[in-house]
Amino acid sequence: DDVVRRVNALVRLVPDYPQPGVLFRDITPLLADASAFADVVATMASPAHGPVDLVAGMEARGFLLAAPIATALGAGLVPVRKAGKLPGPLATESYSLEYGDASIEIQPFTIPAGARVLVVDDVLATGGTAAATVRLLRACGAEVVGLSFLVEIAGLDGRRHLEGLAIDSVVTVD
Ligand code: IMP
Repeated sequence: DDVVRRVNALVRLVPDYPQPGVLFRDITPLLADASAFADVVATMASPAHGPVDLVAGMEARGFLLAAPIATALGAGLVPVRKAGKLPGPLATESYSLEYGDASIEIQPFTIPAGARVLVVDDVLATGGTAAATVRLLRACGAEVVGLSFLVEIAGLDGRRHLEGLAIDSVVTVD
């Protein structure tokens, strides 16, 4: 449909960024288009998940989508940050990258027990980041009601790490 067509037109493909062999999907031109940005936020804030208490956005591009989606849903925002950026007390989760490990952190005192949380990021690639975010939120007592991505790279099969979860993507690419 129209949103899908405009997202595909406005997400820039950057070969060999940030390293050789990676085809990077650059969402910056989409964010700069007022009408496409508004339509993407409205699409990703679809009420399909029922009531949402909090939207968890993944650093850094996830923040840009999670904040307007949270206000559209009448929900609060939880930033999921790379290690070392938030003042404690913190909950931490580690996950493997292609080379080495990474850690993400949240402030658990911002998450009431049983909070219904929607996870938002710009791109679902291998799913490692999203799966670690789900583990982190669950360890803090949250209920993850779904995940919403702007772009899903189907060929990397990130969904295999997210079994049993409701996943929505505005566009799916190979
Ligand atoms: P994953 O953990 O492999 O699924 O990678 C997802 C994380 O890396 C997300 O936080 C994305 O923002 C980022 N990412 C991976 N590939 C791309 C891309 O092509 N464009 C923008 N971000 C990407």
